[in-house]
Amino acid sequence: MALCLDCQMSIPSQLEYAFSLIKDVADFPNPGILFKDITPILQDEKAFQSVIDDLASHLNGANKVAGIESRGFILAAALAAKGDLGLVLLRKPGKLPRETYRVDYQLEYGSDSLEIHKDALGSTDSVFLVDDVLATGGTMWAGTELVKLAKANLTNCAVFLEISVLQGRERLKGLPLHASISV
Ligand code: AMP
Repeated sequence: MALCLDCQMSIPSQLEYAFSLIKDVADFPNPGILFKDITPILQDEKAFQSVIDDLASHLNGANKVAGIESRGFILAAALAAKGDLGLVLLRKPGKLPRETYRVDYQLEYGSDSLEIHKDALGSTDSVFLVDDVLATGGTMWAGTELVKLAKANLTNCAVFLEISVLQGRERLKGLPLHASISV
């Protein structure tokens, strides 16, 4: 585990290689945003496997994996296949064809909404909610609200990368949260 006391960076040794592949892109998609591009991890079979293995070790008895559009879908689909679990999609507005629940939220660059099909989850479901990056926490918070609206139980929120300076963890206070890497 690599620890940087000044910046509170925490990187488990088995994820150091995956972390080394992340590309920082300045001013994308808007000026002032430092975008963490994780696509090089997906392109590398060893790095991608290490990320999925880490997230899978925190499923906590879930029977469904819910992925947040769009990079959360990639992680969620791999986790669902690995854990033999159902896959549920939390999508941007207007993408799901049938009746939905909808939650609006603020993010680092603007505002957005997330939707879930009303029949995607129910009270017997235990849900592992996953996205690639936790920034201000608004997106993950909206995901947890959708799980609540669907009356399902949340086993864990999980991200591969937490940008701790943006304090998303604060927004999710009281909720279970796993970040594979925190920078
Ligand atoms: P937030 O709601 O602020 O926590 O933003 C998290 C969502 O926006 C995730 O779905 C990320 O994919 C994306 N995101 C926000 N900020 C960044 C960033 N700096 N780099 C990469 N993705 C980001």
